[in-house]
Amino acid sequence: PATSLQDIVGHAKEYGFVFPSSEIYDGLQAVYDYGQNGVELKNNLKAAWWKAMTQLHDNIVGIDASIFMHPLTWKASGHVDGFNDPMIDNKDSKKRYRADQLLEGKAEQYAAEGNEAKSQELLAEMGRLLSAEDLNGVRELIISENIKCPVSGTANWTEVRQFNLMFSTQVGSVAEDSNLIYLRPETAQGIFVNFLNVQKSGRMKIPFGIAQIGKAFRNEIVARQFTFRMREFEQMEMQFFIRPGTEMAWYESWKEARMKFHKAIGLPAEKLKFHDHEKLAHYANAAVDIEYQFPFGFREMEGIHSRTDFDLRNHQELSKKKQQYFDSDLDENGKPYGNYIPYVVETSVGADRLFLAAFCNAYTVETVGEGENQKERTYLKLHPALAPFKVAVLPLVKKDGLAEKAQTIANSLKSSFRTTYDDGAAIGKRYTRQDLIGTPFCIAVDYQTMEDDTVTIRHRDTMEQERVKISELKEKIGYQVSI
Ligand code: ATP
Repeated sequence: PATSLQDIVGHAKEYGFVFPSSEIYDGLQAVYDYGQNGVELKNNLKAAWWKAMTQLHDNIVGIDASIFMHPLTWKASGHVDGFNDPMIDNKDSKKRYRADQLLEGKAEQYAAEGNEAKSQELLAEMGRLLSAEDLNGVRELIISENIKCPVSGTANWTEVRQFNLMFSTQVGSVAEDSNLIYLRPETAQGIFVNFLNVQKSGRMKIPFGIAQIGKAFRNEIVARQFTFRMREFEQMEMQFFIRPGTEMAWYESWKEARMKFHKAIGLPAEKLKFHDHEKLAHYANAAVDIEYQFPFGFREMEGIHSRTDFDLRNHQELSKKKQQYFDSDLDENGKPYGNYIPYVVETSVGADRLFLAAFCNAYTVETVGEGENQKERTYLKLHPALAPFKVAVLPLVKKDGLAEKAQTIANSLKSSFRTTYDDGAAIGKRYTRQDLIGTPFCIAVDYQTMEDDTVTIRHRDTMEQERVKISELKEKIGYQVSI
């Protein structure tokens, strides 16, 4: 049977990947904590992204900006006035929904029934109404499509209102309007306001990029689907600063580069696709999502946006500080391009959505064995670079010096790879434990080891074992655990 989101949530909790936040108080909706194995997988994903962005590109550097920013930042970025979702309530169930999601659900239903044209038509109409901020029109569309509340089963809807997604709080001890600050809803603005600091201190020449990983906060109206839509989450963003007029070429090249990354970390091509936006955000002149096929369907995992000079221009206007770059390269007439506000192409991926994609993709249930010995085997087929532990060292038995020998081997591998040692049960059971958390290599120490200094490596996915010299372990494992 196909994997359900429930299977994923259950496995994530049982094996120390993701826990509901403050669970002893019955949790907090749309907030999650990463456990002892989850934090490793997430860190490995972040490290892979950081390496792909900064280490492999001479012209991309990283920063780590604060979550709190001057409130005018969010005025300039358009978030104070425009970072809204259209919200609608059902009068009978008192349940709240996102109006656009109700319509998207209906469009998906049309598509599932084979009526692709009707589906597209509905999405286009929704895009048109939302762009025109015709909230009444959105409500009428919901009613004319006869969309019902899944809880009450009625179509008794309120008007549609805009709901701002930013969380706010007060700085200092006095509650005044002027002390109001926001928890950043995206990491991008920390990069824009530091554009000139980085450019000047790093003597960066266009084109160049700034990358950042950090928390972002959004008061999502409907928050479900596990770590897919959280109120506190992590983004990995890269803003690439370019000469105006070159944006479409860079947009295409970043689209390709990002798709390649997802395949490199082990996500299969058939579960990934591009999806062009029906409705462009206020800041973009071209935008595409990379979607992954989650258990609940193809959904956005990453956005690639051509943001023009929207952000830097607005920051220049509100801060009264020039956000210009002097380009000494020569144009076709042999003259320097001179001063301009750079354009930006950004790539923005949610660490938690990437985590969920990697986790769902890895979760594997197989039937193994024949006849009476047939059983189900569950394991995480994670790319070795992402696995929480790379190696488990397991003595066949504890006695006759095997445990000590295994510990010595584990200690010699520890500084190269995250290694675990386990002598707690029958060896088959210990293999299973490692399978469930995705450890790619299990090293067994047996009586032959004591004679010839060889061990077996058991490969997680095939369960095949090979005999290797202890002295060759590091090299053998090493080349398989990087991306
Ligand atoms: P959606 O349409 O799903 O709300 P978005 O288009 O608003 O997402 P962006 O503003 O483009 O998302 O943010 C970039 C990335 O940040 C997304 O592709 C996603 O991976 C991640 N992200 C955004 N909102 C959330 C959230 N509430 N929880 C987890 N990740 C998120």
